[in-house]
Amino acid sequence: MIDRGYYDGFGGAYLPEILVATFDELVETFQEAKNDPEFWQNYTDIMSTYSCRPTPITFAANLTKHFGGASIYIKREDLNHTGAHKANNVMGQGLLVKRMGKTRVIAETGAGQHGVATATMAARFGFKCTIYMGEVDMRRQRPNVFWMERLGAEVVPVQEGTRILKDAINEAFRDWVTNMDTTHYVLGTACGPHPFPEMVSYFQSIIGKEARKQILKKEGKLPTRIYACVGGGSNAMGIFKSFLDDPVELVGVEAAGKGLSSGQHATRLSSEDASIGVAQGYKTYFLQDNDGQMKETHSIAAGLDYVGVSPILAHLKETGRVRFETATDKEVVDALSLTIKKEGLIPALESAHAFAGAFKEAPALSGDDIILINQSGRGDKDIFTIADAFADPGWQEFIKEKAEEYHA
Ligand SMILES: *Cc1c(COP(=O)(O)O)cnc(C)c1O
Repeated sequence: MIDRGYYDGFGGAYLPEILVATFDELVETFQEAKNDPEFWQNYTDIMSTYSCRPTPITFAANLTKHFGGASIYIKREDLNHTGAHKANNVMGQGLLVKRMGKTRVIAETGAGQHGVATATMAARFGFKCTIYMGEVDMRRQRPNVFWMERLGAEVVPVQEGTRILKDAINEAFRDWVTNMDTTHYVLGTACGPHPFPEMVSYFQSIIGKEARKQILKKEGKLPTRIYACVGGGSNAMGIFKSFLDDPVELVGVEAAGKGLSSGQHATRLSSEDASIGVAQGYKTYFLQDNDGQMKETHSIAAGLDYVGVSPILAHLKETGRVRFETATDKEVVDALSLTIKKEGLIPALESAHAFAGAFKEAPALSGDDIILINQSGRGDKDIFTIADAFADPGWQEFIKEKAEEYHA
């Protein structure tokens, strides 16, 4: 009997009959790999030579002084190759693809970051790669599409439905059903049918494994609180996993967008707006209406703009082990500004949610307390959005001139 990955009723694998054998193969391969000590060794070797692991923790002396409360440390997932924790997941799945003897990978992507990470992994391992992207997203995310294509991936615009992420997910499943003998679907976060939530969390757990050792070495004790932003939940699970049995408070920060009352947000676990349902092959909290139609979500951070959430996090919310908070677009831009000025670090807009959550609570803690923030990625990719948020006149001029060059 293969375990279907339920977490107190959340999760599971709601699959079309035709995909059951493929999922069984994946579950088996993953279990075997997990029980093979050489597999994790091989994985960490690759991550250390290809993606700068272990990533350091950085003591944020200036932010600590600024808030006058807890000591603030930052786990630097931004230093990974391709600029975020996503590298941990795709490289790990790449190793499983090799183990299964498959030769092609597919993925779906909304913001494009997971597409770039998957195309990078495919280039490195020599796999064929197809990325599905809603046509609307593809236009919005041209820089990422550009890199996917340079990396040798075929990027397929999805014309169905509203031509965004959920439509791309449907298309990727359609491809998988047709090509499952040769093809693995690289899911980008700790969501979807079993074994993906467990498997993605397993690869991302490298974050917390390192961070636990690093903070103990530096401070001789565990942090008081750990903050991570929550999109699908993979970077949060990655840093939380090693601390679940410790007296450490774990805080997930979701995107409050333009404010909870505006309806334009992406909070599934921290507000009352989401409800439990089954979609995209698994059971969790979804932002859906009474008919089960998915609602439109909004966040300044494209990577947090998602209707579902990891079933493991849904379970940890119910048990009270993880606390969920929110940060609005405005709070996020302010936190980002402050972090850049005080520490010279540029967190991704997604990661800046974790910073905003931590900044709200740091002053009330004491000098003996330690806060650890997961900087899931770097913000260079967000220059278009951030420059707009600051209404930077020099940047607007630059874009105008570039556009005129093409008209000439
Ligand atoms: C994709 C992304 C996220 C959101 O994904 P999770 O699965 O919730 O971690 C967060 N931060 C960055 C930098 C990302 O690129």
